[in-house]
Amino acid sequence: MVDLVSQYQEIKNEVNHAIQNVLETAQFINGPEVKSFQQDLEKYLNVKHVIPCANGTDALQVSLMSLGLKPGDEVITPSFTFIATTEVIALLGLKPVFVDVEKDTFCIDPKKIEEAITEKTKAIVPVHLYGQAANMEKILRIAKDNNLYVIEDNAQAIGSDYYTENGHKKTGTLGDIGCTSFFPSKNLGCYGDGGAIFTNNDELADTIRKIVNHGQSKRYYHDLVGCNSRLDSIQAAVLRIKLKKLDQYIESRRKVADYYDAFFEKYKNVITPFRNSYSRHVFHQYTLILDGIDRDALNKHLAEKGIPSMIYYPVPAHKQKMFSAFGSEATELPVTDWLTKRVLSLPIHTEMEEEQLEFICKNITEFIDK
Ligand SMILES: *Cc1c(COP(=O)(O)O)cnc(C)c1O
Repeated sequence: MVDLVSQYQEIKNEVNHAIQNVLETAQFINGPEVKSFQQDLEKYLNVKHVIPCANGTDALQVSLMSLGLKPGDEVITPSFTFIATTEVIALLGLKPVFVDVEKDTFCIDPKKIEEAITEKTKAIVPVHLYGQAANMEKILRIAKDNNLYVIEDNAQAIGSDYYTENGHKKTGTLGDIGCTSFFPSKNLGCYGDGGAIFTNNDELADTIRKIVNHGQSKRYYHDLVGCNSRLDSIQAAVLRIKLKKLDQYIESRRKVADYYDAFFEKYKNVITPFRNSYSRHVFHQYTLILDGIDRDALNKHLAEKGIPSMIYYPVPAHKQKMFSAFGSEATELPVTDWLTKRVLSLPIHTEMEEEQLEFICKNITEFIDK
């Protein structure tokens, strides 16, 4: 699905040098690379505060912890997402309230959010799935009208632009808090685990900085129950190099998406990714909807030809055993269920060659035309 080896070859000298530098200065934790990366990312995102942390799941967990919610408070989230988005809600004793997504964007449906709001609702966690933003304008309006926090799960959309009336903003900087993951295969990935939290709110930033460091205000003085969630210096050094390439990486991904789009145009059973007008798709995934084609058989056919393809995600969150205590499997999410049976993601990465694309498309054609 991705080719991190070829990508590394392109930046090998710079990366090796940067890692070597960390080894030689031995400042593995909270070293200068972490601070520099934080500042680089603040500048890139045009956001006041970036707080690096250990991974994307922690970013979501810490963000929720910073809001001062009470057990049983409700958090609205899509079910059609990676499990981490929803898992941290339950982990903190909060109640995940699953709502449906839009059939075209795969993102949370603002109309369904309004229907799910109760007196206990405290926050909304939209996910910018596969690299395309949820409708933040509508979500932020609902949040404002109902006095709710918005935490953006931006793990799949870092670098994406959101167009507003007053110009564009980076996704993850529109709500109260944004979260991302630097898992190696993400659009901005490191060589291990990593994550970050973004906010323009000084007070939340202050709380979040404490939480990721054992609730500490000054050394050995702990104001809050927190955790230990740090980005290490080696990962920060790698990320500083890759951040400079992020826009170029996004361009490469978009070119792959354009190729696939053009190729599948003639197949009316193959629905190519919708591109909404209010954001720039960064194609973390290139996900087709196969309507009337045996998706699982195609997935198997491609595997036999040595072509990876993935179902993100085969079981939506509301049907996971993990949430059985909430009775969420009874929630009716018809669009989520419909999509779960039909989506298929194709290989997409920054080093893809036309030959590979031709080979993938030829094998898909073979299956569909058969
Ligand atoms: C990857 C991902 C996460 C979690 O990130 P980790 O760094 O693996 O903990 C959360 N949400 C979404 C949508 C993701 O894709």
